[in-house]
Amino acid sequence: MSGGYSMTAVLEARGLGKRYRRLWALSDCTLSIPAGHIVGLVGPNGAGKTTLLNLAAGLLAPTTGTIEVLGGPAPVSPAELARVGFLAQDSPVYAGLPVADHLALGARLNPRWDEELARGRIDRLDLDLGQKAGKLSGGQRAQLALTLAIAKRPELLLLDEPVASLDPLARREFLQDLMEAVAEQGLSVVLSSHLVADLERVCDYLIVLVGSRVRVAGPVEDLLATHHLLSGPRRDPDTLPAGQQVISASHTDRQTTLLVRTSDPVLDPAWTVSEVGLEDLVLAYMSQAAGRGRRNHHLEVQK
Ligand code: ATP
Repeated sequence: MSGGYSMTAVLEARGLGKRYRRLWALSDCTLSIPAGHIVGLVGPNGAGKTTLLNLAAGLLAPTTGTIEVLGGPAPVSPAELARVGFLAQDSPVYAGLPVADHLALGARLNPRWDEELARGRIDRLDLDLGQKAGKLSGGQRAQLALTLAIAKRPELLLLDEPVASLDPLARREFLQDLMEAVAEQGLSVVLSSHLVADLERVCDYLIVLVGSRVRVAGPVEDLLATHHLLSGPRRDPDTLPAGQQVISASHTDRQTTLLVRTSDPVLDPAWTVSEVGLEDLVLAYMSQAAGRGRRNHHLEVQK
Protein backbone atom coordinates (compact mmCIF):
# COMPACT_ATOMS: atom_id res chain seq x y z
CA MET A 1 0.00 0.00 0.00
CA SER A 2 1.79 3.08 -1.19
CA GLY A 3 -1.11 5.37 -0.26
CA GLY A 4 -1.12 8.26 -2.69
CA TYR A 5 -4.20 9.44 -0.88
CA SER A 6 -4.40 13.12 -0.25
CA MET A 7 -7.01 15.57 0.93
CA THR A 8 -6.46 17.73 -2.13
CA ALA A 9 -9.04 17.56 -4.85
CA VAL A 10 -7.83 15.31 -7.66
CA LEU A 11 -9.64 17.55 -10.12
CA GLU A 12 -10.62 21.13 -9.50
CA ALA A 13 -12.24 23.00 -12.37
CA ARG A 14 -13.36 26.61 -12.16
CA GLY A 15 -15.33 28.17 -14.98
CA LEU A 16 -13.61 25.73 -17.27
CA GLY A 17 -14.56 25.95 -20.92
CA LYS A 18 -13.29 24.76 -24.27
CA ARG A 19 -14.41 26.18 -27.58
CA TYR A 20 -13.79 24.83 -31.05
CA ARG A 21 -14.37 27.74 -33.43
CA ARG A 22 -17.96 28.62 -32.59
CA LEU A 23 -18.86 25.45 -30.75
CA TRP A 24 -18.46 25.20 -27.00
CA ALA A 25 -17.49 21.60 -26.32
CA LEU A 26 -17.42 22.36 -22.59
CA SER A 27 -18.87 25.43 -20.89
CA ASP A 28 -18.65 26.94 -17.46
CA CYS A 29 -17.58 23.74 -15.76
CA THR A 30 -16.96 24.06 -12.03
CA LEU A 31 -16.16 20.86 -10.17
CA SER A 32 -14.18 19.71 -7.20
CA ILE A 33 -13.58 16.00 -7.06
CA PRO A 34 -12.10 14.62 -3.86
CA ALA A 35 -9.47 11.87 -3.90
CA GLY A 36 -10.18 8.19 -3.51
CA HIS A 37 -13.28 7.96 -5.65
CA ILE A 38 -14.31 6.20 -8.80
CA VAL A 39 -16.02 8.95 -10.71
CA GLY A 40 -18.44 8.12 -13.47
CA LEU A 41 -18.68 10.67 -16.25
CA VAL A 42 -21.88 10.19 -18.25
CA GLY A 43 -23.76 12.04 -20.90
CA PRO A 44 -24.96 11.71 -24.48
CA ASN A 45 -22.67 11.62 -27.50
CA GLY A 46 -21.01 14.96 -28.00
CA ALA A 47 -21.72 16.13 -24.44
CA GLY A 48 -18.10 17.08 -23.74
CA LYS A 49 -16.86 14.08 -21.77
CA THR A 50 -13.77 13.50 -23.89
CA THR A 51 -13.10 17.22 -23.87
CA LEU A 52 -13.14 17.33 -20.07
CA LEU A 53 -10.86 14.29 -19.81
CA ASN A 54 -8.45 15.75 -22.37
CA LEU A 55 -8.32 19.02 -20.46
CA ALA A 56 -7.57 17.08 -17.27
CA ALA A 57 -4.88 15.07 -19.01
CA GLY A 58 -3.19 18.24 -20.22
CA LEU A 59 -3.81 17.38 -23.87
CA LEU A 60 -6.02 20.42 -24.44
CA ALA A 61 -5.67 23.97 -23.18
CA PRO A 62 -8.77 25.64 -21.74
CA THR A 63 -10.45 28.50 -23.61
CA THR A 64 -11.79 29.84 -20.32
CA GLY A 65 -11.28 29.07 -16.64
CA THR A 66 -8.81 26.78 -14.96
CA ILE A 67 -8.31 23.15 -14.16
CA GLU A 68 -6.07 21.79 -11.43
CA VAL A 69 -5.04 18.18 -11.31
CA LEU A 70 -3.73 16.61 -8.08
CA GLY A 71 -3.29 20.09 -6.64
CA GLY A 72 -1.25 21.51 -9.51
CA PRO A 73 -1.62 22.52 -13.13
CA ALA A 74 -2.74 19.93 -15.67
CA PRO A 75 0.19 17.54 -16.19
CA VAL A 76 2.97 18.51 -18.56
CA SER A 77 6.33 17.54 -17.07
CA PRO A 78 7.36 13.87 -16.86
CA ALA A 79 7.05 13.99 -13.07
CA GLU A 80 3.50 15.30 -13.32
CA LEU A 81 2.63 12.85 -16.07
CA ALA A 82 3.83 9.92 -13.96
CA ARG A 83 1.12 10.73 -11.43
CA VAL A 84 -1.69 10.79 -13.98
CA GLY A 85 -2.70 7.88 -16.15
CA PHE A 86 -4.75 8.61 -19.21
CA LEU A 87 -6.33 6.23 -21.62
CA ALA A 88 -7.89 7.70 -24.73
CA GLN A 89 -11.07 6.33 -26.24
CA ASP A 90 -9.43 4.39 -29.07
CA SER A 91 -7.01 2.47 -26.77
CA PRO A 92 -3.88 3.54 -28.60
CA VAL A 93 -1.13 0.94 -28.82
CA TYR A 94 1.87 0.57 -31.11
CA ALA A 95 0.50 -1.67 -33.84
CA GLY A 96 3.90 -2.89 -34.97
CA LEU A 97 5.23 -3.71 -31.51
CA PRO A 98 4.65 -7.02 -29.74
CA VAL A 99 2.86 -7.08 -26.39
CA ALA A 100 6.16 -7.73 -24.57
CA ASP A 101 7.68 -4.54 -25.98
CA HIS A 102 4.76 -2.54 -24.65
CA LEU A 103 5.54 -3.82 -21.18
CA ALA A 104 9.23 -3.05 -21.64
CA LEU A 105 8.36 0.49 -22.74
CA GLY A 106 6.01 0.91 -19.81
CA ALA A 107 8.77 -0.18 -17.44
CA ARG A 108 11.27 2.19 -19.02
CA LEU A 109 9.00 5.25 -19.11
CA ASN A 110 7.28 5.00 -15.75
CA PRO A 111 9.14 5.41 -12.44
CA ARG A 112 6.45 3.61 -10.43
CA TRP A 113 5.92 0.80 -12.95
CA ASP A 114 4.51 -2.39 -11.41
CA GLU A 115 5.93 -5.23 -13.48
CA GLU A 116 4.24 -7.92 -11.43
CA LEU A 117 0.83 -6.38 -11.91
CA ALA A 118 1.41 -5.92 -15.64
CA ARG A 119 2.62 -9.51 -16.16
CA GLY A 120 -0.16 -10.88 -13.99
CA ARG A 121 -2.83 -9.14 -16.03
CA ILE A 122 -1.34 -10.13 -19.38
CA ASP A 123 -1.16 -13.73 -18.15
CA ARG A 124 -4.68 -13.72 -16.87
CA LEU A 125 -5.94 -12.26 -20.13
CA ASP A 126 -4.07 -14.94 -22.00
CA LEU A 127 -2.40 -12.41 -24.28
CA ASP A 128 0.55 -13.71 -26.27
CA LEU A 129 3.64 -11.68 -25.37
CA GLY A 130 5.04 -12.20 -28.85
CA GLN A 131 1.99 -11.00 -30.74
CA LYS A 132 2.05 -7.62 -32.41
CA ALA A 133 -0.45 -5.25 -30.85
CA GLY A 134 -1.93 -4.44 -34.26
CA LYS A 135 -2.95 -8.08 -34.61
CA LEU A 136 -4.88 -8.21 -31.33
CA SER A 137 -8.65 -8.02 -31.31
CA GLY A 138 -10.23 -4.68 -30.39
CA GLY A 139 -11.00 -5.87 -26.88
CA GLN A 140 -7.53 -7.36 -26.41
CA ARG A 141 -6.00 -4.09 -27.52
CA ALA A 142 -8.12 -2.24 -25.00
CA GLN A 143 -6.99 -4.69 -22.32
CA LEU A 144 -3.34 -4.13 -23.21
CA ALA A 145 -3.77 -0.35 -23.06
CA LEU A 146 -5.61 -0.65 -19.74
CA THR A 147 -2.85 -2.82 -18.35
CA LEU A 148 -0.25 -0.20 -19.23
CA ALA A 149 -2.37 2.55 -17.67
CA ILE A 150 -2.87 0.66 -14.40
CA ALA A 151 0.66 -0.71 -14.10
CA LYS A 152 2.18 2.74 -14.21
CA ARG A 153 0.57 3.16 -10.79
CA PRO A 154 -0.80 6.65 -11.23
CA GLU A 155 -2.52 8.55 -8.44
CA LEU A 156 -5.25 9.59 -10.84
CA LEU A 157 -6.43 7.47 -13.70
CA LEU A 158 -8.47 9.09 -16.48
CA LEU A 159 -10.25 6.58 -18.70
CA ASP A 160 -12.30 7.49 -21.74
CA GLU A 161 -14.85 4.73 -22.30
CA PRO A 162 -12.46 2.04 -21.12
CA VAL A 163 -14.85 -0.88 -21.17
CA ALA A 164 -16.80 -0.19 -24.35
CA SER A 165 -15.08 -2.91 -26.37
CA LEU A 166 -14.70 -5.50 -23.61
CA ASP A 167 -16.87 -8.57 -23.34
CA PRO A 168 -19.20 -8.64 -20.30
CA LEU A 169 -16.96 -10.86 -18.20
CA ALA A 170 -13.82 -8.90 -19.04
CA ARG A 171 -15.72 -5.73 -18.22
CA ARG A 172 -16.72 -6.96 -14.84
CA GLU A 173 -13.22 -8.19 -14.05
CA PHE A 174 -11.66 -4.94 -15.14
CA LEU A 175 -14.01 -2.89 -13.00
CA GLN A 176 -13.24 -5.23 -10.12
CA ASP A 177 -9.51 -4.58 -10.64
CA LEU A 178 -10.19 -0.87 -10.57
CA MET A 179 -12.15 -1.06 -7.34
CA GLU A 180 -9.34 -3.05 -5.72
CA ALA A 181 -6.74 -0.52 -6.82
CA VAL A 182 -8.85 2.27 -5.36
CA ALA A 183 -9.30 0.44 -2.07
CA GLU A 184 -5.67 -0.67 -1.76
CA GLN A 185 -3.72 2.26 -3.14
CA GLY A 186 -6.04 5.22 -2.79
CA LEU A 187 -6.09 5.50 -6.56
CA SER A 188 -8.64 7.95 -7.92
CA VAL A 189 -10.39 7.18 -11.17
CA VAL A 190 -12.48 9.24 -13.55
CA LEU A 191 -14.06 7.17 -16.28
CA SER A 192 -16.57 8.00 -18.96
CA SER A 193 -19.04 5.39 -20.04
CA HIS A 194 -22.42 4.93 -21.62
CA LEU A 195 -22.94 1.76 -19.62
CA VAL A 196 -24.84 3.08 -16.66
CA ALA A 197 -25.34 -0.37 -15.17
CA ASP A 198 -21.56 -0.73 -14.91
CA LEU A 199 -21.23 2.71 -13.39
CA GLU A 200 -23.91 1.87 -10.90
CA ARG A 201 -21.81 -1.03 -9.69
CA VAL A 202 -18.47 0.73 -9.36
CA CYS A 203 -18.86 4.49 -9.15
CA ASP A 204 -19.29 6.33 -5.90
CA TYR A 205 -19.25 9.76 -7.55
CA LEU A 206 -21.16 10.86 -10.60
CA ILE A 207 -20.94 13.68 -13.11
CA VAL A 208 -23.70 14.08 -15.69
CA LEU A 209 -22.61 16.21 -18.60
CA VAL A 210 -25.14 17.22 -21.24
CA GLY A 211 -24.76 19.74 -24.03
CA SER A 212 -21.35 20.90 -22.76
CA ARG A 213 -22.62 21.58 -19.24
CA VAL A 214 -22.42 19.77 -15.94
CA ARG A 215 -26.04 19.08 -15.03
CA VAL A 216 -25.39 17.36 -11.75
CA ALA A 217 -22.31 16.15 -9.89
CA GLY A 218 -21.68 14.65 -6.49
CA PRO A 219 -21.24 11.52 -4.40
CA VAL A 220 -23.69 8.88 -5.63
CA GLU A 221 -24.96 8.36 -2.10
CA ASP A 222 -25.89 12.04 -1.79
CA LEU A 223 -27.49 12.12 -5.21
CA LEU A 224 -29.62 9.10 -4.48
CA ALA A 225 -30.63 10.58 -1.13
CA THR A 226 -31.72 13.92 -2.63
CA HIS A 227 -33.60 12.66 -5.67
CA HIS A 228 -37.02 11.07 -5.34
CA LEU A 229 -39.66 9.70 -7.60
CA LEU A 230 -43.06 11.15 -6.77
CA SER A 231 -46.24 9.75 -8.14
CA GLY A 232 -49.78 10.82 -7.46
CA PRO A 233 -52.88 12.42 -8.91
CA ARG A 234 -52.25 14.57 -11.96
CA ARG A 235 -50.71 17.88 -11.03
CA ASP A 236 -48.95 20.83 -12.56
CA PRO A 237 -45.27 20.61 -11.55
CA ASP A 238 -45.30 24.41 -11.14
CA THR A 239 -47.35 24.02 -7.98
CA LEU A 240 -44.56 22.23 -6.08
CA PRO A 241 -42.81 23.82 -3.10
CA ALA A 242 -39.86 26.04 -3.98
CA GLY A 243 -37.22 23.62 -2.70
CA GLN A 244 -38.32 20.84 -5.04
CA GLN A 245 -36.63 20.99 -8.40
CA VAL A 246 -38.35 18.96 -11.08
CA ILE A 247 -35.85 17.06 -13.20
CA SER A 248 -38.35 15.15 -15.28
CA ALA A 249 -42.10 14.84 -15.41
CA SER A 250 -44.50 12.49 -17.09
CA HIS A 251 -48.26 12.53 -17.03
CA THR A 252 -51.11 10.27 -17.91
CA ASP A 253 -54.72 11.49 -17.86
CA ARG A 254 -54.97 11.14 -14.14
CA GLN A 255 -51.49 10.48 -12.86
CA THR A 256 -48.29 12.51 -12.58
CA THR A 257 -44.83 11.07 -12.02
CA LEU A 258 -41.99 13.41 -11.19
CA LEU A 259 -38.33 12.98 -10.56
CA VAL A 260 -37.55 15.68 -8.06
CA ARG A 261 -34.38 16.96 -6.48
CA THR A 262 -34.71 18.28 -2.95
CA SER A 263 -32.71 18.21 0.25
CA ASP A 264 -35.88 18.38 2.36
CA PRO A 265 -38.20 15.47 3.00
CA VAL A 266 -41.28 15.32 0.77
CA LEU A 267 -44.22 15.67 3.13
CA ASP A 268 -47.18 16.12 0.80
CA PRO A 269 -49.42 13.08 1.45
CA ALA A 270 -50.74 13.22 -2.13
CA TRP A 271 -47.44 11.77 -3.34
CA THR A 272 -46.19 8.26 -3.19
CA VAL A 273 -42.47 8.75 -2.75
CA SER A 274 -40.01 6.15 -3.95
CA GLU A 275 -36.26 5.98 -4.26
CA VAL A 276 -34.54 6.37 -7.60
CA GLY A 277 -31.77 4.25 -9.02
CA LEU A 278 -28.72 5.72 -10.67
CA GLU A 279 -29.93 4.82 -14.13
CA ASP A 280 -33.25 6.63 -13.68
CA LEU A 281 -31.41 9.62 -12.35
CA VAL A 282 -28.99 9.73 -15.28
CA LEU A 283 -31.76 9.27 -17.84
CA ALA A 284 -33.84 12.01 -16.25
CA TYR A 285 -31.02 14.52 -16.57
CA MET A 286 -30.25 13.38 -20.08
CA SER A 287 -33.86 13.65 -21.26
CA GLN A 288 -34.23 16.98 -19.49
CA ALA A 289 -31.54 18.41 -21.69
CA ALA A 290 -32.95 16.76 -24.79
CA GLY A 291 -35.77 19.29 -24.49
CA ARG A 292 -33.16 22.05 -24.55
CA GLY A 293 -33.71 25.64 -23.55
CA ARG A 294 -34.40 27.22 -20.22
CA ARG A 295 -37.85 25.82 -19.75
CA ASN A 296 -36.47 22.35 -19.44
CA HIS A 297 -37.85 21.74 -15.97
CA HIS A 298 -41.27 21.73 -17.57
CA LEU A 299 -40.27 19.13 -20.05
CA GLU A 300 -42.54 16.18 -20.47
CA VAL A 301 -40.70 12.93 -20.73
CA GLN A 302 -42.27 10.45 -23.07
CA LYS A 303 -42.93 7.05 -21.66
P1 ATP B 1 -19.01 10.68 -27.08
O1 ATP B 1 -19.90 10.12 -26.04
O2 ATP B 1 -19.62 10.62 -28.43
O3 ATP B 1 -17.60 10.21 -27.02
P2 ATP B 1 -18.20 13.21 -25.75
O4 ATP B 1 -19.14 13.53 -24.63
O5 ATP B 1 -16.91 12.61 -25.40
O6 ATP B 1 -18.97 12.32 -26.83
P3 ATP B 1 -16.63 15.33 -26.96
O7 ATP B 1 -15.79 14.43 -27.77
O8 ATP B 1 -16.03 15.97 -25.77
O9 ATP B 1 -17.99 14.58 -26.55
O10 ATP B 1 -17.18 16.47 -27.93
C1 ATP B 1 -17.89 17.61 -27.48
C2 ATP B 1 -18.23 18.48 -28.66
O11 ATP B 1 -17.03 19.06 -29.17
C3 ATP B 1 -18.87 17.75 -29.82
O12 ATP B 1 -19.88 18.54 -30.34
C4 ATP B 1 -17.75 17.57 -30.84
O13 ATP B 1 -18.24 17.60 -32.14
C5 ATP B 1 -16.89 18.79 -30.55
N1 ATP B 1 -15.46 18.52 -30.82
C6 ATP B 1 -14.68 17.61 -30.19
N2 ATP B 1 -13.42 17.64 -30.65
C7 ATP B 1 -13.39 18.59 -31.61
C8 ATP B 1 -12.37 19.11 -32.48
N3 ATP B 1 -11.12 18.66 -32.43
N4 ATP B 1 -12.72 20.09 -33.33
C9 ATP B 1 -13.98 20.57 -33.37
N5 ATP B 1 -14.98 20.13 -32.59
C10 ATP B 1 -14.70 19.16 -31.72
